[in-house]
Amino acid sequence: MLILMTQGATRAQIQTVCEAIRHAGFTPHEIPGSTRTAIGITGNQGPLAPELFSNLEGVSECVPVSKPYKLVSREVKPESTVVDVGGAKIGDGSLAIIAGPCSVESYDQVMKAAEAVAASGAKFFRGGAYKPRTSPYQFQGLKSEGLRLLEKVRDRFGLKIVSEVKDTESLDEVAAAIDVLQVGARNMQNFSLIEALGRQRKPVLLKRGVSATITEWLMAAEYLLSLGNYNVIMCERGIRTFETMTRNTFDLAATVMIRHHSHLPVIADPSHGVGIDWAVPPMAMASVAAGVDGVMVEVHPDPRRALSDGQQSLTCEAYTKLAADLNALHAWRQRI
Ligand code: PEP
Ligand code: MN
Repeated sequence: MLILMTQGATRAQIQTVCEAIRHAGFTPHEIPGSTRTAIGITGNQGPLAPELFSNLEGVSECVPVSKPYKLVSREVKPESTVVDVGGAKIGDGSLAIIAGPCSVESYDQVMKAAEAVAASGAKFFRGGAYKPRTSPYQFQGLKSEGLRLLEKVRDRFGLKIVSEVKDTESLDEVAAAIDVLQVGARNMQNFSLIEALGRQRKPVLLKRGVSATITEWLMAAEYLLSLGNYNVIMCERGIRTFETMTRNTFDLAATVMIRHHSHLPVIADPSHGVGIDWAVPPMAMASVAAGVDGVMVEVHPDPRRALSDGQQSLTCEAYTKLAADLNALHAWRQRI
């Protein structure tokens, strides 16, 4: 259920409602809006009787929430969420470009990629230090050493760092080093990891699971919000279908569904979505045309020598052109 407070509701009235919710054995979630505050309720197994709260002072309406996900839904919070990553915003109408190599491999590699990313005007750099790989014989990432290299990128270029957190064991170490914690597709339903990420406050970039429905993906985000972390960015990265010509089936429609049903920002990752370097730019452009809040692309100074995902990585030159095109398209889209 969602409790809508009146426009002039006082802090004391809001607190009394939250107290009544706790007293009934549930959890209140205060959601400030531009005109009035809403309070979401979680922890109830079935529908709640509106009379429980409708007579309290300052309460305007008690609205049942029809979806299985509540705190992530636009029903509960009509205004789009803006995730603020140390001043760089995602979801505020700007286009967030997150670019960098699949894996952090060396000082030279990250610095060359970061130079192109910073020069393009992008504010976010990506790179995996802890890499979950399909095969145990593939490169598993530079781990702590990789995090140190990402810190050097931030110090030199002022870029915000996005990197994957693979498990609960490395969470504190990764969270201390970087700005946005990426949950990989393989971990979207790793609930011990998701719960640990919900209990901390660093922004989380939640990739869609390889075979996850949009509702399952939203439910994974719901875990994060229900534990108090509202700094969540959704990332569509393609799903497994019968198609084999592309690495995954890039489900651009999912980004439109997320924007409609949820207030959380949504970004597209066409690199993993299609898995082929030349197919990435058109799909990145299509994503911006469809209205995403950001695009994540893999960039490598020498894709042929990449230790992971070279086949889908753009060269610095191809990235530079794409970033300019994306920004131009985004500017045009804002005018229409
Ligand atoms: C990645 O971003 O490099 C990655 C491993 O992505 P995904 O979890 O979407 O496969
Ligand atoms: Mn990758």
